[in-house]
Amino acid sequence: MKVLKLKKHNLNDYLDSLRVWGEVYGPVKQGEKYIYGQLDDLSKLDTKMLRTILPVKKFLMPPKFNTFTFDENKYKAELENIPNRIVFGVHPCEIHGLLILDKFFLERFPDPFYGERRRKTAILGLSCVPDDKCFAKSTNTHYVESGFDLAFNDLDNYYLVWVGSSLGDDLVRIRLDLFEEDIKEKDLKHYMEWRNWRDSQYKLNVNLTAMPDIMELNYSSPVWDELGDKCLSCGACSMVCPTCPCYNMSDQIRPSQFTGKRERTWDSCMFKQFALVAGGHNFREARSQRVRLWYTHKLKAFITEFGKAACIGCGRCIDTCPVDINVKTVVKALKGGK
Ligand code: SF4
Ligand code: SF4
Repeated sequence: MKVLKLKKHNLNDYLDSLRVWGEVYGPVKQGEKYIYGQLDDLSKLDTKMLRTILPVKKFLMPPKFNTFTFDENKYKAELENIPNRIVFGVHPCEIHGLLILDKFFLERFPDPFYGERRRKTAILGLSCVPDDKCFAKSTNTHYVESGFDLAFNDLDNYYLVWVGSSLGDDLVRIRLDLFEEDIKEKDLKHYMEWRNWRDSQYKLNVNLTAMPDIMELNYSSPVWDELGDKCLSCGACSMVCPTCPCYNMSDQIRPSQFTGKRERTWDSCMFKQFALVAGGHNFREARSQRVRLWYTHKLKAFITEFGKAACIGCGRCIDTCPVDINVKTVVKALKGGK
């Protein structure tokens, strides 16, 4: 993998130059929180961001979009007007989240809408320092080796930049003059010291070892009833989780004109109607069943299927759930902790 160096005072000039390739997005403060916002004004960029409200998945599977339009004779997929985008500031754990979504939408169930957006979205990673809700070291998602185009490692007054794809290489060449190619031994030493320091900053450990077995043994545990009694079925955990892939489809039809469109929107298995089928039967009527399914997907089914948990330790569920149901509290409850 190619490694370059970019002085920090050149970052904005570099991001500005990328507009020739596409729209530029990055972390922007909104109240007390952060979002990935469009950087029409680069002074809005805030590289101190810890986690955004919605994850980077919003660019690849937007919360609501049109999949195709149709009339009585034909349909037309909405794949042509997807813009090129550059998203700067994506943390390593979130890049792992994209790799998990790739498993679903590029390998297992090839999805042209996700695939086209993935191809047209350049991912520019940025290293980070954890807070008390982040446990990416437990999930081994605190470093990245793939899934990005460029990855910026923050070393005081400069970034060590990993080039992770041919698109990343093209993006570097837009302003190659801003980068230094001569990486010295002291830079690598600096990076290793930073790694060791950063790793020592993880305070929260959520041990996911043997979770498929623990989930199986706890299938009928009263823990699920206790969690179900608390859960509000708001679905916020699904909206903010970088690895939740569920969506719903609905047709908007204009009968008088014989035309229509098919919209795709985010969905959540925490919603009561998620497993409601024709005839009125609901496979997961009880909240306890829905909470159990959410955690079965993350901590059992995905591990069994793909060899790793569908949790990247980002801490968004910890930050978001109004009644303190999250990976940390659920794993603790299942393991008999208080
Ligand atoms: S389950 Fe929670 S910590 Fe894990 S990826 Fe989803 S939001 Fe992040
Ligand atoms: S677990 Fe929390 S965030 Fe998720 S649906 Fe229940 S109350 Fe809402």
